[in-house]
Amino acid sequence: MNYPDIFKRNNHSIFVPMISFHYRDLFKLILENGENLDKDLEILRKEMKIATNQQYDDSHFVVSNIYGDIFRFMIIGKPYSCLSIWNMTDFGIGKAIITNNREEAEKNLNDVKKRMEIYTEGKIHCSGCDSIEDYNHIKSHRWFAGIYCDSCWETKYKAIEAKENYS
Ligand SMILES: [Zn+2]
Repeated sequence: MNYPDIFKRNNHSIFVPMISFHYRDLFKLILENGENLDKDLEILRKEMKIATNQQYDDSHFVVSNIYGDIFRFMIIGKPYSCLSIWNMTDFGIGKAIITNNREEAEKNLNDVKKRMEIYTEGKIHCSGCDSIEDYNHIKSHRWFAGIYCDSCWETKYKAIEAKENYS
């Protein structure tokens, strides 16, 4: 693919491409094309890497919610068993367990959809106790992909995080 040289450095592109799905389309794919979806997404990722001359293997798959906000996602398991969603700075937003029981899978996907919506509204679920918290208030209470309410942070994760950083 030929695109202007101003978008390249050391012969690789300097921009990060993304493959974006509307949540409705992604959920439909998960429910109806289950068996091969992870393989098909991998084909898409490799094609995009070649087409845009990317150096790294990041997938950059994103899903948009009803408000147009985008989130990173990954489908894990073979054929797959879990849809994981993060915000763009890699805080975990939620996971939907996908089983062969369609009703259960739909319920879990709907729960993740709600979690993406409350994130747009400035709130997030605590990764420890699942309480709904103000994102700006707790965004510094972070350990790996988790984000914690005052209580979980003070009683447990603050000490764990400090030990990781300074020991
Ligand atoms: Zn908590």
